[in-house]
Amino acid sequence: MPPVAVTSLDLRGKKVLVRCDFNVPLEGMKIADPARIDASLDTIRYILGQGAAAVLCSHLGRPKERTPELSLKPVAEYLSGALGHKVALAPDSIGDTTGRMVADLALGSAMLLENLRFHREEEANDRDFSHELARGKQVYINDAFGTAHRAHASTVGVTRFISERAAGMLMLRELEALRAVTENPAHPYVAILGGAKVSDKIGVIRNLLIKADAILIGGAMAYTFLKAGGTPVGRSRVEEDKLELARELMAEAARRNVALMLPSDHVVAPEPAAGPEIEVVRQIPVDRMGLDIGPATLARYIECVAGAKTIIWNGPLGLFEIPEFAQGTLKLGEAIANLHGVMSVIGGGDTAAAIAGQPWAGGFSHVSTGGGATLEYLEGLELPGVKALDV
Ligand code: AMP
Repeated sequence: MPPVAVTSLDLRGKKVLVRCDFNVPLEGMKIADPARIDASLDTIRYILGQGAAAVLCSHLGRPKERTPELSLKPVAEYLSGALGHKVALAPDSIGDTTGRMVADLALGSAMLLENLRFHREEEANDRDFSHELARGKQVYINDAFGTAHRAHASTVGVTRFISERAAGMLMLRELEALRAVTENPAHPYVAILGGAKVSDKIGVIRNLLIKADAILIGGAMAYTFLKAGGTPVGRSRVEEDKLELARELMAEAARRNVALMLPSDHVVAPEPAAGPEIEVVRQIPVDRMGLDIGPATLARYIECVAGAKTIIWNGPLGLFEIPEFAQGTLKLGEAIANLHGVMSVIGGGDTAAAIAGQPWAGGFSHVSTGGGATLEYLEGLELPGVKALDV
């Protein structure tokens, strides 16, 4: 059952605590990509339009204490522009001054609490901190899908003190997209998994082996599978302690008749860096490392997704941060974005970052704002931040 929607509550005249995911990438004190803020704007505008006051809160980065460089000030400025009124930044997420600002906040307007993680109590899901966060607010809305897999004070603890609660529109869109690719997905169902480590994705692979028709593997994790199957991988990144597991997963795929596809050619280099020695090979030499899928693999993967009705993708297919090793990820992304009649979901994190800004990036059914939360959902785990919205 999806959680209660923000649109089903009576918000008029109330102070609404809205947990957002404003954990945006920063360049100095500037926002490098505001996508996560933009994704919550419809929820915020809806709340304000109902004649309520919105007290927005979020974490930014991973501070353990007050860290000026991780202030939400740039986010408050961005929100002021986007909402068309000054969104004041409170000096803290709790305390007397913040409490007075909340009390004085006019209906129809929004303010922002300072970075929740300036208090260790946030991640500890501390009871007193949760109580303080809830003070002066009558309704709680969680729109932070990207943090829904964490049981923190602002995602779980606070719900003990605010009985009127619901999911925001972004949260509902995210859950609906993931539901569509996990419950009765249309077949053929193709999953694409890349990224650094097999160990992060074991649960997801196991779960997808039950549901998908094909799993296309890329990224560094492909080399653990290739090595496990006896293919030489040179100096590529391999998780030696996961070779047995990789063999087990390949055997399970064969038993279940799931096509577990691995790269057959590679973009290699002596180091994970751009340079004159980059080349495409079928056999990785002992002194080279695989840093992207090669063109023949790309063509096989494109052919596979072209026949799909459902596609879920989590993890880049190469070291995409370096343009020379981003082509596999970008070309497969473009091919999927141009497909018609397919449900295509990009599972947040690095995959979303890799495709951000591309002219075709709007061609997917859904691009999630949450990498870790998507993975946990795909593993079949319950997200604590969603569960806590149950009333
Ligand atoms: P993850 O967080 O597990 O999704 O991993 C993403 C990271 O894996 C990105 O920083 C990629 O640059 C990196 N990555 C992908 N493919 C490779 C590769 N072949 N060798 C080294 N790193 C890679």
